[in-house]
Amino acid sequence: MTERLAIIGAGAKAVAVAAKAATMRDMGVATPEVVAVERSAVAANWRSGGGWTDGQHRLGTSPEKDVGFPYRSSILPGRNGELDARMMRLSWQSYLVNTGRFAEWVDRGKPAPTHETWAAYLRWVADSVGLQVVDGEVVRLSLSGRSWVVHCRDDSVEADAVMITGPGQPDRSVLPGHPQVLSIAQFWRMAAEHQRIDAERVAVIGGGETAASMLNELFKHRVATITVISPQATLFTRGESFFENRMFSDPTDWAGLTLSERRDVMARTDRGVFSARVQDSLLADDRIRHLRGRVAHGVAADGRIRITLHTDRQSERLETVHGFDLVIDGSGADSLWFLPLLGQDVLDLLEVRLNGPLTGDRMQQAIGDDLALAGVRPKLILPNLSGLNQGPGFPNLSCLGLLSDRVLGLGSHTYPIDRTIRRNVDYQPL
Ligand SMILES: Cc1cc2nc3c(=O)[nH]c(=O)nc-3n(C[C@H](O)[C@H](O)[C@H](O)COP(=O)(O)OP(=O)(O)OC[C@H]3O[C@@H](n4cnc5c(N)ncnc54)[C@H](O)[C@@H]3O)c2cc1C
Repeated sequence: MTERLAIIGAGAKAVAVAAKAATMRDMGVATPEVVAVERSAVAANWRSGGGWTDGQHRLGTSPEKDVGFPYRSSILPGRNGELDARMMRLSWQSYLVNTGRFAEWVDRGKPAPTHETWAAYLRWVADSVGLQVVDGEVVRLSLSGRSWVVHCRDDSVEADAVMITGPGQPDRSVLPGHPQVLSIAQFWRMAAEHQRIDAERVAVIGGGETAASMLNELFKHRVATITVISPQATLFTRGESFFENRMFSDPTDWAGLTLSERRDVMARTDRGVFSARVQDSLLADDRIRHLRGRVAHGVAADGRIRITLHTDRQSERLETVHGFDLVIDGSGADSLWFLPLLGQDVLDLLEVRLNGPLTGDRMQQAIGDDLALAGVRPKLILPNLSGLNQGPGFPNLSCLGLLSDRVLGLGSHTYPIDRTIRRNVDYQPL
């Protein structure tokens, strides 16, 4: 039975799943056809112009956590060793060997690659395995019988399983269009164009890897103070010991933890925390300070941007107002970014299956072993919401090889369909 898996976004996860599927196909194993629908280019979010980086900043995780990591396949009993050996041909190190840079990388002490180099690696893998890409921005996801229809403006793709990837849209801004407020994409556009930022009091909304990269860049500009605004009590350092890292690479014991223990691990290692490297090199700078709270809104007044913050204290909510010369809204990453794409038919299906309105928490708790929403057919695979139920490494780059096994190997995408990419079919603008 042939099947098609459509992946929204040709980023790291799509490349990893396509690599595993192609490798299994080379071994004579039937696997779903993998089609990525991409609005820009393979690995666009890791390059300048993609909105999330200028490409010159460095990967936070080790590049050896590549498309096959942790090279412990369990999808083909009796042949997993062979599968891992074949996947090694698509590893980060194979890429360096292939491009004549392996020895230099080792001799330089295995430095973290820039985002641009990481993108080049992902593109090399995509080319090597012949990743099928349909060009177009996905604007709607609907159902047709027992299949998904992924709608772009000009094309639509039918599939019997859909996987949604990516951090969302980097254009979010607390005060759109105001010159003293930048979205993530505007910030990186300025950086790529070498425009100098000159401001006394700068605020960066949001924590985590996105903010870390922006802080790294901001230090090169003329700024007097940088206030990082996040809901956490302080700017925590990410737990990066062997035991914490292992949870990301190997979530075997994850299911044995209680829900609150899992949330605790994720708070220490994932959400809104800075790596030890960032804490050492950036946060020691006395221009940086932290403000706890959630941004309620921003207004322009007297040449400044006034940000209203809500902070929970014991049983009361405190409201405070703070003025800045420049605000960079780094809160764009959103694992629920795809909700506005869902047609009414899809919303109805999901609400029935999930027994209630679609909330982040309800969806996270409904994710099964195959990283799809349990009980929903056709399959909707949501790795970015899989951390809580399946393991903290699935939303990021920490175990892409394991992610591919789960997506391709468990359960079945049981509905054979007419495998066509249609042009201009029944697309209604939103
Ligand atoms: C600056 C930055 C640094 C990071 N560093 C790390 C790190 O070091 N380690 C780590 O584990 N994680 C890191 N992350 C998190 C990272 O986003 C994820 O780990 C990883 O990229 C997720 O892979 P993905 O395939 O889900 O998404 P991506 O690799 O981001 O790919 C998503 C793709 O979807 C496309 N797309 C978006 N919307 C649409 C649409 N509507 N239609 C069609 N295509 C669309 C985009 O163009 C993009 O190509 C970082 C994130 C950022 C923003």
